[in-house]
Amino acid sequence: MTGRLAIAGLGPGDAALITPEVSAALAEATDVLGYAPYVARVPAREGLRLHPSDNRVELNRASEALKLAAEGRYVVLVSSGDPGVFAMAAAVFEALEAAPECGDVAIRVLPGVTAMLAAAARAGAPLGHDFCAMNLSDNLKPWELIEKRLRLAAEADFSIALYNPRSASRPEGFVRALDVLRTAGCGERLVIFAHAVTTPKERIETVPLKDARPDMADMATLVIIGNSATRRVGRWVYAPRRAS
Ligand code: SAH
Repeated sequence: MTGRLAIAGLGPGDAALITPEVSAALAEATDVLGYAPYVARVPAREGLRLHPSDNRVELNRASEALKLAAEGRYVVLVSSGDPGVFAMAAAVFEALEAAPECGDVAIRVLPGVTAMLAAAARAGAPLGHDFCAMNLSDNLKPWELIEKRLRLAAEADFSIALYNPRSASRPEGFVRALDVLRTAGCGERLVIFAHAVTTPKERIETVPLKDARPDMADMATLVIIGNSATRRVGRWVYAPRRAS
């Protein structure tokens, strides 16, 4: 019997932002895999096997999920936010390339509310004009590439969402990113620091880039750098729809 694998996004934290489609998959699953804090967000029930794992083992976890599904189980692999945004979906397809014997598994990718969208909604409409998103982690790419993309994004006047801005093991990365953007002439741009959005620890702070301090970001922060027209109206921050 060929099993099923759903790669599901749990949203940014608040259970109200888990889609009905993801809830339905979790209610039917035989096995749930994922990084331990995400698996902990899945309601336990009789007969459901939970397989929490460590953060840095994405490819192993993806192969394990495919293997269990190939054995006939109904596996849900969970990510926070959206599973296709710097998360498990790409790892599963990488694992599938290496495991052609799992080619019959019925795979579905179930979207979720990514941190960038939840953060933007809290701040106002900072993504109302063209934007790009980057992962600031240099685990899977060289730092030179990150700097190049930041410089070009600044030159193109995109608003820029930064995932994984700052880790304990690599605190200097975010400092360097701020330096690149200052040098590219972005000192007056507004920067939104959206911490733990939609959780009880949520905190949103907006400052001009020249006043941004590295310690305003941590691994639970999504950073949005406005474009050159991004501005405040009352307590809100938005990017005007028109540009010249
Ligand atoms: N797949 C996830 C992103 C995984 S990368 C998604 O779509 O949201 C992990 C990064 O996402 C964190 O370092 C942080 O930058 C961001 N993030 C995840 N949840 C967040 C939240 N509730 N508030 C702010 N940022 C969050």
